[in-house]
Amino acid sequence: MIRVNDNFLKLPASYLFSEIARKVEEFKKANPEAPVIRMGIGDVTRPICQAAIAGLRRGVDDEAKEQTFHGYGPEQGYQFLREKIAEIDYRNRGIEMDIDEIFISDGAKSDTGNIGDIFSRDCKVAVTDPVYPVYVDTNVMAGRAGDALPGGGWSNIEYLPCTAENRFVPSLPQGNPDLIYLCYPNNPTGTTLNRQQLGEWVKYAREHGALILFDSAYEAYISEEDVPHSIYEIEGAKECAIEFRSFSKTAGFTGLRLGYTVVPKTLKGFDENGKEVSLNSLWLRRQTTKFNGASYVVQRGAEALYTDEGRRQIDKTVAYYMRNAALLREGLQEAGLEVFGGVNAPYIWIKTPEGVTSWEFFDKLLNECNIVGTPGVGFGPSGEGYFRLTAFGRFEDTLEAVSRLKSLATRTTKKTN
Ligand code: PLP
Repeated sequence: MIRVNDNFLKLPASYLFSEIARKVEEFKKANPEAPVIRMGIGDVTRPICQAAIAGLRRGVDDEAKEQTFHGYGPEQGYQFLREKIAEIDYRNRGIEMDIDEIFISDGAKSDTGNIGDIFSRDCKVAVTDPVYPVYVDTNVMAGRAGDALPGGGWSNIEYLPCTAENRFVPSLPQGNPDLIYLCYPNNPTGTTLNRQQLGEWVKYAREHGALILFDSAYEAYISEEDVPHSIYEIEGAKECAIEFRSFSKTAGFTGLRLGYTVVPKTLKGFDENGKEVSLNSLWLRRQTTKFNGASYVVQRGAEALYTDEGRRQIDKTVAYYMRNAALLREGLQEAGLEVFGGVNAPYIWIKTPEGVTSWEFFDKLLNECNIVGTPGVGFGPSGEGYFRLTAFGRFEDTLEAVSRLKSLATRTTKKTN
């Protein structure tokens, strides 16, 4: 008899996005002609920029010749890429990062999900709420989350609500967590913390011996000066934070798969006897054992982004999406909705009208505007009463979506007058 990991059975059977897909399929079957615009899943739509394509081609050509063929690569990633990251993503921002502190991977989903391997099952976890579901579900799988609560959430996870009431700035934890997941710019709310606000978290973590797991997958979308691109811009963060980055949203690598994680050598954990252990060494051990390195070709593609031309091209794509974000923000505000985000992130977080739940708003937008978004409650209990739209669509579709949303608002106002 094969015993399974019972923790998996605690997870809800249906993942948020499969429930959305099911509802959209059902709607399409009933309305085959309906021009549905999908603004739900956070995938990109613009092609990979030419600089990266040239880098990928070089990688492919190398694989075709005996002299330049690459088989298994280093599990931590090729030095040529880690050096660029250390120089351009960190040193140019005044942060010294050794290349041995940088671990290339196949993306931030894997790393934010796998990082729990190196921590005790007894570690207490805190998350901001709403939250990127991977942080929570992987802790459920590891047995750290406790039991599902009837109102949403898990008994052993501390939820830090982020709502319009606190301007999406979470309060510091009360329950003395060991691991704190922070994601800024935030998915799903599209909001950020400024330097002083993030500084409070670093101070808290250092004073309480907590570790911040900082996901900055949307760093490339930051437009305001006072928003840190890396948690290591805050003094002392190298003693209390691991940072996750991704090429998915920065450069459209969602299909190519590439990201990296920074584990400073200054980070320490403790074994059962209270002896200090290097988290960098543990993560290296974990990666060399369970991961065989990211694709050579894809790493050559990413290397090419760290040139003036590469940077210019990805900035152009980011600007394309952020034009969508501005259009959505303004259009939805004109339609009388309260909206957040969309300034330093490609997500728009809408407050649903009074008395309308997230899922009711989902149904309304699908049925009356043929627009698919994501119900906020799918990201955690504090997401109820909110709704997420992404700016990752085509410009023309975004324009059309805004026009439909405005027309819905006009129809609704006329009905109530
Ligand atoms: N982290 C956050 C907050 C995300 O929203 C996403 C993707 O949607 C990821 C990580 C996953 O990134 P990757 O494609 O690098 O796995």
